[in-house]
Amino acid sequence: MRLAIEILQLLVQSADSWLFEGSLAGLSDREWMALRFLARANRFSRTPTALASFLGTTRSVASQIAAVLESKGLMVRKPSAEDKRSIALCITSEGEKFLERDPINVLRDQLVTLELPDRSQLRDTLRRVLDGLDVAKRRHNADVCGRCMFLIESGEGKDRRFKCGLFRKSIAPKDTTLLCAYFEGRG
Ligand code: SF4
Repeated sequence: MRLAIEILQLLVQSADSWLFEGSLAGLSDREWMALRFLARANRFSRTPTALASFLGTTRSVASQIAAVLESKGLMVRKPSAEDKRSIALCITSEGEKFLERDPINVLRDQLVTLELPDRSQLRDTLRRVLDGLDVAKRRHNADVCGRCMFLIESGEGKDRRFKCGLFRKSIAPKDTTLLCAYFEGRG
């Protein structure tokens, strides 16, 4: 138990770079979180609903956060290519550039200094902890296609193809590393 408490304390201290009062570089911690998500979200998840799910908030609060990002030229709303009745929240090139000022980058840069096996182990351990939390809270986190139960793979080598069984759409190999709010682990 003592070790678990020590780990908890370290996690809380490391949260300084993404949880803060007021604003940094003009954005609140939640606005940064939204911008970060939209920069890494796949085409099914660039929506107010998926953003709300990722932030753990309502669709209306997510829309307000999106409006702030839009007013700063960091994001634009476009008709969705997936569903003409929906809109897609698309990060602009200014938004991409602005992410260089993301307060969480200090933590990222520290993680990069870890040896690759340590980084992989940390990622896998945090994933297992989050998976357990999801079960306890009856919700699920956004994650990448690779571990998703809906991912259908076929072919090999350069003929390797990916398809999403949930949306019944093909997925480009490079897009399988993007975040998806509809991810379901293989259990
Ligand atoms: S396979 Fe899973 S993670 Fe990938 S797009 Fe489909 S639902 Fe999302």
